[in-house]
Parts: sequence; C-alpha cells; structure tokens
Amino acid sequence: MLTIEGFKQALRNAQSEIEANKDILTDLDRAIGDGDHGINMSRGFEAVVAILDDDYATLGELSKKVGMTLMSKIGGAAGPLYGSAFVKAAPKFENAIEADFALVKEALAEASSAIKNRGKSEVGQKTMVDVWEPFLSDLQASDNFDAKLDELVKATEDMRATKGRASYFGENSRGTIDPGAMSSSIILKAILKEVE
Ligand code: ADP
Ligand code: MG
Repeated sequence: MLTIEGFKQALRNAQSEIEANKDILTDLDRAIGDGDHGINMSRGFEAVVAILDDDYATLGELSKKVGMTLMSKIGGAAGPLYGSAFVKAAPKFENAIEADFALVKEALAEASSAIKNRGKSEVGQKTMVDVWEPFLSDLQASDNFDAKLDELVKATEDMRATKGRASYFGENSRGTIDPGAMSSSIILKAILKEVE
C-alpha cells in the first residue's frame, strides 16, 4: 500500500538520491546535453521536500502539488515532463488516501502517457520514455523493480538520441546513458519501494 505518508517518504528519498547522484546526472548531461540535469533535478526536488510539511487530504492532492512544484522549479525540458507526469497521475488516485499496487501502477501509467504526450516522444529515442514505457508495460507486483529499472537505464547507453537536446549530438549521442532515464529510475525506485 502507498499511503500519503509513504508517498511523502518516497519523495524525500528521491530527493536524497538525486542529491547523491547530482554530479553524475550533470556529467551525463554534459556529455550529450548542456550539463544542467543534476542541478535542475536537485532544485526541483528540494522545492518538493519543502511542500511536504503541509497537510494533504488525498494522494491526488499531493501528487498535483508535487507536479506543479516540479513544473515551476526544475526548468529545462525535464520540468514540464515531470510536472505533467505528477499532475496527470493525480486524478487517477481520485480521493484515495492509500493506493494498492494496481492503483499505483495505473497512476504511473498515466504519468508515462503524460510524459510521452508532453514530449511528443516515443520509445527508442533515448529519453526518459525508454524507462517509463517499458517499465510500466508489463509491471508485476512480484518484479525486482530496481533490477528492471537498472537494465532499462543501461539500455539507453547504446541508443542514438532523436529527441531533445541530445539529438543534436547525432551518432555521438551513443555511448552515454540518458540523464533523464537515470533520474526517472531514481524516482520510480523511490515510489515502488514505498508500495512494497
Ligand atoms: P534540457 O534538455 O532542457 O537541458 P534537462 O537537462 O533537465 O533539460 O533534461 C534532459 C532530459 O529530458 C533528457 O535526458 C531526456 O530524458 C528528457 N527529454 C528531453 N526532451 C524530451 C522529450 N521530448 N521527451 C521525453 N523526454 C525528453
Ligand atoms: Mg540539460
């Protein structure tokens, strides 16, 4: 079950993981982008942690607030993508104060569609979509979430970017893990850990 307290804890854990991996995220984005992804994500999740002390009546209310905060604080391409993910996931929770695995999966699938719609992107373009979409497509409660996510992040390394800033690197975008794939894996791991 994911409770409101569990969701808050997941976001706090995501923030500390992002902080611990800030330089790696930035280095990856320096190789195939403009070197700001770690800084962007760190700023966004610090702002999220700051809104967690407030009271939320439902999971949906919290998810919406998280999305609005990420949208205004992350910046770059990732801000609107992560922002719409949490905002669009919110109605799936309806008025729930806790969610079982099936409902969390539904909400995350909605988040994944929101990212694809907002980014006009699909699988195979070396973006965070290459983590979200295959991760959600056949997710089972019994899966080893971390191993699955690590594998998907690793798989972006050999891809050629055809979306976002990394696409300007053409063939040279191969050989580096997509930074957004890595930050997505951090966020998804943190959420799934609290559902278990
Ligand atoms: P920017 O590219 O504006 O500097 P960030 O560095 O914060 O923004 O985020 C880059 C990440 O955003 C990429 O690694 C990729 O995963 C993701 N991304 C960029 N454009 C798209 C898109 N159109 N669809 C999905 N994901 C995207
Ligand atoms: Mg960048």
